[in-house]
Amino acid sequence: MLTCCKQPHGLLAGGLKALEHLFPGFGHELEQAGAVAICPTFDVRFEFGEVDSWPRFKNNRQTYAMSRPLMERTLRRQVERLPNLLVQDGCRVIDIIGNPNTGAATGIRYRTRGGDVKTLPADLVIDASGNGPLTLDFLKATGRTPPEETSIGVNMRYASAVFRDVDLKDNYKVAYTLPNAPEESRGGLLMQAENGYQVFLVGRSNDSPPISEGGFLSYARDLPTPTIYKAIEKATRLTEIIPHSFPESRWRHFAGVPDFPRGLLPIGDAICRFNPVYGQGMSAAAREASLLFDLLQRSDSDSLSMLARDFLTEAENLIADPWAMSAIPDLVYPETTGVRPNDLEQHLNFQKGLTRLAARDAAIFELLSDVRHLLKPLKVLEDPSIADRVKEELTSEPSLSVAAQ
Ligand SMILES: Cc1cc2nc3c(=O)[nH]c(=O)nc-3n(C[C@H](O)[C@H](O)[C@H](O)COP(=O)(O)OP(=O)(O)OC[C@H]3O[C@@H](n4cnc5c(N)ncnc54)[C@H](O)[C@@H]3O)c2cc1C
Repeated sequence: MLTCCKQPHGLLAGGLKALEHLFPGFGHELEQAGAVAICPTFDVRFEFGEVDSWPRFKNNRQTYAMSRPLMERTLRRQVERLPNLLVQDGCRVIDIIGNPNTGAATGIRYRTRGGDVKTLPADLVIDASGNGPLTLDFLKATGRTPPEETSIGVNMRYASAVFRDVDLKDNYKVAYTLPNAPEESRGGLLMQAENGYQVFLVGRSNDSPPISEGGFLSYARDLPTPTIYKAIEKATRLTEIIPHSFPESRWRHFAGVPDFPRGLLPIGDAICRFNPVYGQGMSAAAREASLLFDLLQRSDSDSLSMLARDFLTEAENLIADPWAMSAIPDLVYPETTGVRPNDLEQHLNFQKGLTRLAARDAAIFELLSDVRHLLKPLKVLEDPSIADRVKEELTSEPSLSVAAQ
């Protein structure tokens, strides 16, 4: 198993909604398998910025906390039930093959578990290989230009382990501690799951969370708040402490590739890889899969001819919001590399004002939570009634100033 799959994986409510669209009853099946139901505005102790406490209330938004293997097993069971689908285990795609005359993708070459190399013809190849180079190699092999990429170098360092007998106060199921950027850079997540409490510590650059027992605990003690440390100081660790690193968020703009090949679609991390701290990657991938499902329902006689253009364009729109909420705020750290938008300072100040407002106003808090969970678009926060109140917040206290690079 990839080490990233041993790290805790949170599913946003918008990701669950997309999975429910693809597999009705998905959430119920997750719960039956042991996933923990989470109401984002009630079960999550959110610790961020200068705010001491947030509104806390139940509403009808729901998601689940579980280990990544549980999520994958549940998804796989659902997929295997599809009557027109055959799963071939243990194969590795070598490359995508195409028609030299038309430049269209026409199938794959792959190696079986036994080492045989075979080809599989296809009308549509979906490249869900994560960071895999399959689509990029095919574009190159067929003489096409590679996609433009937006990269934000974050150099994140993680360490995680599973604990039992955790003491998380006030019946919270999740504690999520984010640093007060840019002064602080350490954060942490503690999440109840089917196999215990998953704890995930995060640092940047040379500030890696240690993988020794004592080092892990002392790193937790130095987080911006003591919540996670207090919850685990007397707990029993059930697994080894696993490190992981994540160099950069990266968005490949395939929609801009002229003459993108018919019969080929990249999806998920193959298009955009998000900083894992914000827990968006699986949900963004699920929303793209849901978009593809809808596009394939179209009754056009030749829907494949427009599929790549429509999917890649709409996927860019789906990615824009989570990207703006994760990759852009990372730019507040001077050591983060990447092109800083001209309105970065304005954007970060708006976030700051909005955070203060949400701490006092349950309706704004709920809206912000819905946006973060990809249930509502980011633009709902630009509503003039909200923007004016954020402006008032910012005039009452000094705003943030971002050092020029
Ligand atoms: C440390 C860490 C923590 C994370 N935490 C979260 C979180 O809390 N919430 C969240 O939503 N996301 C999280 N993510 C992101 C999430 O893991 C990814 O965004 C998501 O898994 C992307 O799904 P995918 O299907 O595109 O790619 P992947 O999940 O990477 O799947 C790609 C699959 O393709 C296979 N593959 C690759 N090449 C080939 C080939 N040539 N032939 C056959 N198979 C191939 C791989 O083995 C893999 O199984 C985290 C990531 C990391 C690194």
